[in-house]
Amino acid sequence: MKEITVISGKGGTGKTSLVASLVSLAHKPVVADCDVDAADLHLVLDPKVKKAHDFSGGKSAEIEPDKCSGCGKCFELCRFGAVIKDESNRPAYSIDHISCEGCGVCSYFCPEKAIVFEPSVNGQWYISDTRYGPMVHAKLGIAEENSGKLVALVRDQAKSIAESEGLSYVIIDGPPGIGCPVIASVSGTDYVLIVTEPTLSGAHDLERVMELINYFKIPAFLCINKYDINPAISEVIEKKARAAGVKFAGRIRYDRAVTEAQIKKLPVVEFTDAPVASDLKNMWNTLVEEINSVTKGS
Ligand code: SF4
Ligand code: SF4
Repeated sequence: MKEITVISGKGGTGKTSLVASLVSLAHKPVVADCDVDAADLHLVLDPKVKKAHDFSGGKSAEIEPDKCSGCGKCFELCRFGAVIKDESNRPAYSIDHISCEGCGVCSYFCPEKAIVFEPSVNGQWYISDTRYGPMVHAKLGIAEENSGKLVALVRDQAKSIAESEGLSYVIIDGPPGIGCPVIASVSGTDYVLIVTEPTLSGAHDLERVMELINYFKIPAFLCINKYDINPAISEVIEKKARAAGVKFAGRIRYDRAVTEAQIKKLPVVEFTDAPVASDLKNMWNTLVEEINSVTKGS
Protein backbone atom coordinates (compact mmCIF):
# COMPACT_ATOMS: atom_id res chain seq x y z
CA MET A 1 0.00 0.00 0.00
CA LYS A 2 1.31 3.44 -0.94
CA GLU A 3 0.22 6.76 0.46
CA ILE A 4 0.25 9.69 -1.99
CA THR A 5 -0.36 13.14 -0.51
CA VAL A 6 -1.39 15.90 -2.90
CA ILE A 7 -0.54 19.40 -1.71
CA SER A 8 -0.18 22.91 -3.07
CA GLY A 9 1.59 25.93 -1.66
CA LYS A 10 -1.67 27.88 -1.63
CA GLY A 11 -5.37 27.47 -2.28
CA GLY A 12 -6.97 27.87 -5.69
CA THR A 13 -4.49 25.82 -7.73
CA GLY A 14 -7.11 23.25 -8.75
CA LYS A 15 -5.67 20.65 -6.37
CA THR A 16 -8.97 19.15 -5.24
CA SER A 17 -10.32 18.84 -8.77
CA LEU A 18 -7.11 17.07 -9.76
CA VAL A 19 -7.36 14.75 -6.74
CA ALA A 20 -10.88 13.76 -7.83
CA SER A 21 -9.52 12.60 -11.20
CA LEU A 22 -6.66 10.68 -9.57
CA VAL A 23 -9.17 8.95 -7.31
CA SER A 24 -11.20 7.94 -10.35
CA LEU A 25 -8.09 6.64 -12.16
CA ALA A 26 -6.63 4.74 -9.18
CA HIS A 27 -9.20 1.89 -9.24
CA LYS A 28 -10.51 1.71 -5.70
CA PRO A 29 -8.11 3.68 -3.55
CA VAL A 30 -8.91 4.88 -0.05
CA VAL A 31 -9.50 8.62 -0.20
CA ALA A 32 -8.50 10.83 2.73
CA ASP A 33 -9.66 14.43 2.65
CA CYS A 34 -7.16 16.12 4.95
CA ASP A 35 -8.13 19.65 3.95
CA VAL A 36 -10.18 19.69 7.16
CA ASP A 37 -10.50 23.48 7.40
CA ALA A 38 -12.11 23.77 3.98
CA ALA A 39 -13.04 20.27 2.88
CA ASP A 40 -14.70 20.21 -0.55
CA LEU A 41 -13.67 16.90 -2.13
CA HIS A 42 -17.01 15.50 -0.93
CA LEU A 43 -18.77 17.82 -3.40
CA VAL A 44 -17.41 15.72 -6.29
CA LEU A 45 -17.12 12.30 -4.65
CA ASP A 46 -20.55 12.41 -2.97
CA PRO A 47 -19.67 10.19 0.02
CA LYS A 48 -22.38 8.23 1.84
CA VAL A 49 -21.53 8.42 5.53
CA LYS A 50 -21.37 4.98 7.24
CA LYS A 51 -19.91 6.06 10.58
CA ALA A 52 -19.60 9.50 12.19
CA HIS A 53 -17.41 10.25 15.21
CA ASP A 54 -16.75 13.29 17.38
CA PHE A 55 -13.24 14.69 17.30
CA SER A 56 -11.65 16.03 20.46
CA GLY A 57 -8.41 17.90 19.90
CA GLY A 58 -7.99 19.22 23.43
CA LYS A 59 -9.70 20.19 26.65
CA SER A 60 -11.81 23.17 27.57
CA ALA A 61 -12.78 24.74 30.90
CA GLU A 62 -16.33 25.18 32.17
CA ILE A 63 -17.42 26.89 35.39
CA GLU A 64 -20.02 25.11 37.50
CA PRO A 65 -22.17 28.04 38.70
CA ASP A 66 -23.37 26.31 41.88
CA LYS A 67 -19.84 25.84 43.18
CA CYS A 68 -18.34 29.21 42.16
CA SER A 69 -17.79 31.66 45.05
CA GLY A 70 -16.97 34.55 42.72
CA CYS A 71 -13.41 35.00 44.04
CA GLY A 72 -12.09 36.01 40.60
CA LYS A 73 -8.92 33.88 40.79
CA CYS A 74 -9.59 32.33 37.36
CA PHE A 75 -10.07 35.79 35.83
CA GLU A 76 -6.71 36.93 37.25
CA LEU A 77 -4.81 33.84 36.14
CA CYS A 78 -6.06 33.22 32.61
CA ARG A 79 -3.37 34.52 30.24
CA PHE A 80 -5.64 34.17 27.23
CA GLY A 81 -8.43 36.50 28.30
CA ALA A 82 -10.80 33.55 28.14
CA VAL A 83 -12.45 34.15 31.52
CA ILE A 84 -15.18 36.75 31.14
CA LYS A 85 -16.22 38.97 34.03
CA ASP A 86 -19.78 40.28 34.03
CA GLU A 87 -20.98 41.69 37.36
CA SER A 88 -24.59 41.66 36.17
CA ASN A 89 -24.56 37.84 36.17
CA ARG A 90 -24.37 35.32 38.97
CA PRO A 91 -21.76 33.94 38.97
CA ALA A 92 -19.89 36.90 37.53
CA TYR A 93 -17.39 34.66 35.74
CA SER A 94 -17.78 32.47 32.70
CA ILE A 95 -15.54 30.96 30.02
CA ASP A 96 -15.29 32.13 26.41
CA HIS A 97 -14.75 28.78 24.69
CA ILE A 98 -13.36 30.28 21.50
CA SER A 99 -10.56 32.04 23.43
CA CYS A 100 -9.92 29.16 25.86
CA GLU A 101 -6.60 27.49 24.99
CA GLY A 102 -7.26 24.55 27.28
CA CYS A 103 -4.21 25.12 29.50
CA GLY A 104 -6.07 24.04 32.65
CA VAL A 105 -4.58 26.73 34.93
CA CYS A 106 -7.95 28.09 36.07
CA SER A 107 -9.20 24.62 36.96
CA TYR A 108 -6.05 23.76 38.87
CA PHE A 109 -6.10 26.91 41.02
CA CYS A 110 -9.84 27.36 41.55
CA PRO A 111 -10.20 27.20 45.38
CA GLU A 112 -13.75 25.82 45.11
CA LYS A 113 -12.94 23.18 42.47
CA ALA A 114 -15.71 24.81 40.47
CA ILE A 115 -14.07 24.50 37.04
CA VAL A 116 -14.43 21.25 35.15
CA PHE A 117 -11.78 20.63 32.57
CA GLU A 118 -12.86 18.05 30.05
CA PRO A 119 -12.23 17.03 26.44
CA SER A 120 -14.01 19.41 24.11
CA VAL A 121 -15.66 18.39 20.84
CA ASN A 122 -13.90 20.32 18.07
CA GLY A 123 -15.35 18.63 15.03
CA GLN A 124 -16.49 15.38 13.45
CA TRP A 125 -14.83 12.77 11.28
CA TYR A 126 -16.49 10.24 9.02
CA ILE A 127 -15.93 6.92 7.31
CA SER A 128 -17.92 6.86 4.10
CA ASP A 129 -18.46 4.93 0.90
CA THR A 130 -18.02 6.57 -2.49
CA ARG A 131 -18.45 5.07 -5.94
CA TYR A 132 -14.61 4.94 -6.10
CA GLY A 133 -13.92 3.29 -2.75
CA PRO A 134 -13.84 4.14 0.96
CA MET A 135 -13.33 7.73 2.05
CA VAL A 136 -12.28 9.22 5.38
CA HIS A 137 -13.09 12.89 5.83
CA ALA A 138 -13.72 15.40 8.56
CA LYS A 139 -15.17 18.71 9.50
CA LEU A 140 -13.54 20.99 12.02
CA GLY A 141 -15.90 23.22 14.03
CA ILE A 142 -16.00 26.95 13.31
CA ALA A 143 -12.98 28.79 14.80
CA GLU A 144 -11.62 25.45 16.09
CA GLU A 145 -7.92 24.70 16.03
CA ASN A 146 -5.92 21.49 16.29
CA SER A 147 -6.50 20.66 12.65
CA GLY A 148 -3.06 18.98 12.63
CA LYS A 149 -4.35 16.36 15.08
CA LEU A 150 -7.49 15.84 13.01
CA VAL A 151 -5.42 15.44 9.84
CA ALA A 152 -3.28 12.80 11.56
CA LEU A 153 -6.40 10.97 12.68
CA VAL A 154 -7.96 11.00 9.18
CA ARG A 155 -4.71 9.66 7.70
CA ASP A 156 -4.41 6.89 10.29
CA GLN A 157 -7.97 5.75 9.67
CA ALA A 158 -7.51 5.78 5.89
CA LYS A 159 -4.33 3.72 6.18
CA SER A 160 -5.92 1.11 8.41
CA ILE A 161 -8.85 0.73 6.00
CA ALA A 162 -6.43 0.27 3.08
CA GLU A 163 -4.45 -2.31 5.03
CA SER A 164 -7.48 -4.25 6.21
CA GLU A 165 -9.11 -4.27 2.74
CA GLY A 166 -5.84 -4.92 0.87
CA LEU A 167 -6.11 -1.75 -1.25
CA SER A 168 -3.10 -0.41 -3.13
CA TYR A 169 -3.35 3.35 -2.64
CA VAL A 170 -4.34 5.95 -0.11
CA ILE A 171 -4.82 9.25 -1.92
CA ILE A 172 -4.73 12.24 0.38
CA ASP A 173 -6.11 15.65 -0.47
CA GLY A 174 -3.80 17.75 1.69
CA PRO A 175 -4.40 21.22 3.09
CA PRO A 176 -2.94 24.29 1.35
CA GLY A 177 0.04 26.23 2.74
CA ILE A 178 2.98 24.93 4.78
CA GLY A 179 1.59 25.06 8.34
CA CYS A 180 0.94 22.40 10.95
CA PRO A 181 -1.93 20.65 9.06
CA VAL A 182 0.30 20.30 5.96
CA ILE A 183 3.13 18.87 8.02
CA ALA A 184 0.65 16.40 9.55
CA SER A 185 -0.46 15.39 6.05
CA VAL A 186 3.03 14.83 4.57
CA SER A 187 5.17 13.51 7.41
CA GLY A 188 5.83 9.83 6.82
CA THR A 189 3.84 9.66 3.57
CA ASP A 190 5.31 7.61 0.72
CA TYR A 191 5.01 10.28 -1.99
CA VAL A 192 4.01 13.89 -2.31
CA LEU A 193 2.48 15.33 -5.45
CA ILE A 194 2.83 19.11 -5.51
CA VAL A 195 0.28 20.97 -7.60
CA THR A 196 1.20 24.46 -8.67
CA GLU A 197 0.19 27.02 -11.26
CA PRO A 198 2.40 29.20 -13.45
CA THR A 199 2.07 32.52 -11.64
CA LEU A 200 4.63 34.46 -9.64
CA SER A 201 2.81 33.68 -6.39
CA GLY A 202 2.56 30.02 -7.44
CA ALA A 203 6.33 29.91 -8.06
CA HIS A 204 7.03 31.57 -4.70
CA ASP A 205 4.73 29.21 -2.77
CA LEU A 206 6.24 26.23 -4.55
CA GLU A 207 9.69 27.13 -3.21
CA ARG A 208 8.37 27.10 0.34
CA VAL A 209 6.68 23.75 -0.22
CA MET A 210 9.85 22.27 -1.71
CA GLU A 211 11.82 23.39 1.35
CA LEU A 212 9.33 21.57 3.54
CA ILE A 213 9.46 18.41 1.44
CA ASN A 214 13.25 18.44 1.39
CA TYR A 215 13.29 18.84 5.14
CA PHE A 216 11.22 15.67 5.55
CA LYS A 217 13.10 13.92 2.70
CA ILE A 218 9.92 12.73 1.02
CA PRO A 219 10.04 11.64 -2.65
CA ALA A 220 8.14 14.35 -4.49
CA PHE A 221 6.53 14.93 -7.88
CA LEU A 222 5.44 18.17 -9.44
CA CYS A 223 2.41 18.90 -11.58
CA ILE A 224 1.84 22.28 -13.21
CA ASN A 225 -1.84 22.99 -13.56
CA LYS A 226 -2.98 25.37 -16.35
CA TYR A 227 0.64 25.39 -17.56
CA ASP A 228 -0.35 27.10 -20.82
CA ILE A 229 -1.61 30.32 -19.21
CA ASN A 230 2.07 31.26 -18.82
CA PRO A 231 4.46 28.84 -20.55
CA ALA A 232 7.53 30.94 -19.65
CA ILE A 233 6.89 30.71 -15.88
CA SER A 234 5.96 27.03 -16.30
CA GLU A 235 9.40 26.48 -17.79
CA VAL A 236 11.12 28.26 -14.89
CA ILE A 237 9.10 26.32 -12.31
CA GLU A 238 9.87 22.99 -13.97
CA LYS A 239 13.61 23.71 -14.04
CA LYS A 240 13.64 24.80 -10.39
CA ALA A 241 11.76 21.71 -9.31
CA ARG A 242 14.05 19.34 -11.21
CA ALA A 243 17.10 21.11 -9.78
CA ALA A 244 15.68 20.57 -6.29
CA GLY A 245 15.30 16.83 -6.95
CA VAL A 246 11.53 16.92 -7.51
CA LYS A 247 10.42 14.60 -10.32
CA PHE A 248 8.17 16.00 -13.00
CA ALA A 249 4.78 14.28 -13.17
CA GLY A 250 3.14 16.36 -15.86
CA ARG A 251 1.54 19.48 -17.20
CA ILE A 252 -2.22 19.96 -17.24
CA ARG A 253 -3.59 22.40 -19.78
CA TYR A 254 -6.21 25.04 -19.07
CA ASP A 255 -9.67 23.94 -20.14
CA ARG A 256 -13.11 25.28 -19.28
CA ALA A 257 -14.25 21.66 -19.09
CA VAL A 258 -12.61 21.52 -15.63
CA THR A 259 -15.10 24.08 -14.28
CA GLU A 260 -17.97 22.40 -16.11
CA ALA A 261 -16.98 19.05 -14.55
CA GLN A 262 -17.06 20.67 -11.10
CA ILE A 263 -20.53 22.04 -11.76
CA LYS A 264 -21.64 18.54 -12.80
CA LYS A 265 -19.88 17.12 -9.69
CA LEU A 266 -17.77 14.76 -11.78
CA PRO A 267 -14.02 14.13 -11.97
CA VAL A 268 -12.66 15.71 -15.17
CA VAL A 269 -11.54 12.33 -16.53
CA GLU A 270 -15.13 11.11 -16.38
CA PHE A 271 -16.69 14.27 -17.69
CA THR A 272 -14.75 14.73 -20.92
CA ASP A 273 -12.45 13.07 -23.46
CA ALA A 274 -10.82 16.44 -24.20
CA PRO A 275 -7.00 16.71 -24.14
CA VAL A 276 -7.08 17.92 -20.53
CA ALA A 277 -8.36 14.45 -19.53
CA SER A 278 -5.42 12.87 -21.39
CA ASP A 279 -3.05 15.19 -19.49
CA LEU A 280 -4.48 13.90 -16.23
CA LYS A 281 -4.32 10.26 -17.32
CA ASN A 282 -0.71 10.68 -18.47
CA MET A 283 0.18 12.23 -15.15
CA TRP A 284 -1.36 9.35 -13.20
CA ASN A 285 0.44 6.81 -15.42
CA THR A 286 3.75 8.62 -14.85
CA LEU A 287 3.19 8.51 -11.10
CA VAL A 288 2.32 4.81 -11.11
CA GLU A 289 5.31 3.92 -13.32
CA GLU A 290 7.68 5.83 -11.05
CA ILE A 291 6.20 4.30 -7.91
CA ASN A 292 6.37 0.80 -9.39
CA SER A 293 9.95 1.27 -10.55
CA VAL A 294 10.99 2.41 -7.05
CA THR A 295 9.07 -0.48 -5.44
CA LYS A 296 10.72 -3.03 -7.76
CA GLY A 297 14.16 -1.53 -7.19
CA SER A 298 13.87 -1.52 -3.40
S1 SF4 B 1 -11.60 30.67 40.61
FE1 SF4 B 1 -13.32 29.27 40.88
S2 SF4 B 1 -14.52 30.10 42.56
FE2 SF4 B 1 -13.14 31.73 41.89
S3 SF4 B 1 -14.34 32.86 40.38
FE3 SF4 B 1 -13.22 31.34 39.23
S4 SF4 B 1 -14.61 29.60 39.12
FE4 SF4 B 1 -15.41 30.93 40.70
S1 SF4 C 1 -8.18 26.54 30.65
FE1 SF4 C 1 -6.54 28.09 30.47
S2 SF4 C 1 -7.15 29.27 28.70
FE2 SF4 C 1 -8.97 28.15 29.31
S3 SF4 C 1 -10.05 29.55 30.64
FE3 SF4 C 1 -8.76 28.28 31.95
S4 SF4 C 1 -6.88 29.46 32.22
FE4 SF4 C 1 -7.97 30.35 30.46
